[in-house]
Amino acid sequence: MKNRREREKKYFQIQRKGNMKRSKSVFLILFSIFLLPITSYAQQQEPQPVEFRPISESLYEVLGGRGAQGGAYIGDVGVLLIDAKMDKQSVDQTMDQLKKLTDKPILYLVNTHSDGDHIWGNQFFAESITFVAHENCREDLFLPKNNNEPSDWYNPELAPFVPSLTFRDKMDIFLGSKKVELWYFGVGHTTGDIVVYFPDEKTAFIGDQIFLTRPQLIHSYKGGNSFEHVKTLSTMLETLDAEKFCSGHSEMIGREEIMAHIEQMKERQEKVQALVDKGNTLEEIKAEFEEDEGRLVESIFNEIKTN
Ligand SMILES: [Zn+2]
Repeated sequence: MKNRREREKKYFQIQRKGNMKRSKSVFLILFSIFLLPITSYAQQQEPQPVEFRPISESLYEVLGGRGAQGGAYIGDVGVLLIDAKMDKQSVDQTMDQLKKLTDKPILYLVNTHSDGDHIWGNQFFAESITFVAHENCREDLFLPKNNNEPSDWYNPELAPFVPSLTFRDKMDIFLGSKKVELWYFGVGHTTGDIVVYFPDEKTAFIGDQIFLTRPQLIHSYKGGNSFEHVKTLSTMLETLDAEKFCSGHSEMIGREEIMAHIEQMKERQEKVQALVDKGNTLEEIKAEFEEDEGRLVESIFNEIKTN
């Protein structure tokens, strides 16, 4: 802040000194205009330190750091982590915090899906860890980027950190006597989102299959689909007697919030459908929604049109 204030002072001094050489003042003004937003942006973006919040003696939410919220389960023989953050500092902090709780080794790292904020940190963990994901998540990693460049995951140095153990419908991992259930309930946010369920704790980690503070993200370019998302979440509630749901970007919630989220998505879909039936264009339909719903409305629109 001090630097910023000094720069601002300099800026106003320049404004007052009308006789200063023009080229120099233009340089300094540009310097102030361009640098100030960058520094304040960097300050805002500095993440909270990584923190393990206990759910039980064995199970923790892993909050903070750069990237999504994840989880950690300390079994009899070792540790299973859920999601990987997205930079070395956050991974180092995760390992430091874990060491305060146990000296058991990390055996598994389960990626809930292929988005960078959940999986890019894999490379900063030990190669000896078994990386686990849904088979579609592994495929999604190699899709071209949004700008059509090839995926970074083709880099051979990243090969040891690409999930090597995949499954289709369900897989159990035993950490001694502790059982961890990995479930796939279908397409939604992407085609490869899984639920990591801890039956003893009745707690499910659902990655990005729910957002509470912003409209649901549906990655159409990864095969995500909002209508399937509704079915997938409904199947999850029918199948698991989970009471707590932890996710990548929201507070821990219960079943009621998931049901409310499903209802809200259905209402949006019905509204878009009704407007499509009236012959409205995408732009006209978007105007009927809040601005931050635009991306989701576009996905729903395209899904209806291609059906
Ligand atoms: Zn995320």
